[in-house]
Amino acid sequence: MKTTLIICIFALSFGALYTSKDTEANSLVMLTDSVKIDPVCKMKVKTSSNLKSTYQKQEYLFCGKGCKLKFDKNPEQYLKK
Ligand SMILES: [Zn+2]
Repeated sequence: MKTTLIICIFALSFGALYTSKDTEANSLVMLTDSVKIDPVCKMKVKTSSNLKSTYQKQEYLFCGKGCKLKFDKNPEQYLKK
């Protein structure tokens, strides 16, 4: 639960930087640089996403809250090959 709280605080502060550009269309324009793979559903996620978790010092990005919650509950399951 502590981890979730920290992530929430991080997400809030990160989100505050982008409050004026919070739409899907705008973030697409902003983030043409790089993408990471959502470990849960294997979708490509822009590195500017604020849906992220850190597990074993490695940062993971998610396409949506659902995937992030699944990962937070059981990271090992999604990191196994
Ligand atoms: Zn996903």
